[in-house]
Amino acid sequence: MQTVPTQTLTPQQAARARVCGICWQRPGLPCSLPGQPEADHLKRYLDAYQAGEVSREDMAAVFAAVEVVTRHRLVPAEVTSWT
Ligand SMILES: [Zn+2]
Repeated sequence: MQTVPTQTLTPQQAARARVCGICWQRPGLPCSLPGQPEADHLKRYLDAYQAGEVSREDMAAVFAAVEVVTRHRLVPAEVTSWT
């Protein structure tokens, strides 16, 4: 039987794998508009964190990067693209 690693996704991948609760973007697609830098709503990260898919340390890095948290806050892709 194969074991499935639990930490194969980056925080950004884990967040983006979810439907966005703010703009209802489909899984796998960024929340940002075409032509703009890739970014995702903070809500996706919060949902992924609540599901245990993003670590507390990664969330701390996300909050440190966005600085200001609002309902429609976007998290730039480069912030969370670490492996
Ligand atoms: Zn969104």
